[in-house]
Amino acid sequence: MAKEPTEASLKKMWKYVEHYWEKSGTFPHPDKSVTEVVVKGLAQHVDELGKPLCPCNFYADKKAEAQKREWICACEEMKLYKYCHCLLFVNQDGLPITEYLPEDHEGRQIYGVVKDPTPDKGREGTKVTHPNRHPSTSS
Ligand code: SF4
Repeated sequence: MAKEPTEASLKKMWKYVEHYWEKSGTFPHPDKSVTEVVVKGLAQHVDELGKPLCPCNFYADKKAEAQKREWICACEEMKLYKYCHCLLFVNQDGLPITEYLPEDHEGRQIYGVVKDPTPDKGREGTKVTHPNRHPSTSS
């Protein structure tokens, strides 16, 4: 059974999550308990591994996984596709954004196409890959 996270890690993760809702143009889940469970899991990983490893996956070797970038929150799927399978960063209805996912991704199969309510925000991974697509040039 996982230990309760420290107050310091919980506070740090709440701060990060609140900032990232704003930055990515996503919203908290309407059921606050969904968010609380995920934030707690992230804080436990900060205590255990020193990194906010996604708490919604199974890892054969957590320590090895925490050395990679893929599942450190905000994970690569979030940064590329604006998709959070933990439901931490969702639309106003509590659904994960799926419109940018590859069609064969399980998120598409589970939720169908869920449009991005704020396409001008988030997906910073695509902006790194395509530096010419800068949103500030459109206004
Ligand atoms: S799926 Fe990604 S963005 Fe969502 S909580 Fe896990 S690591 Fe964070």
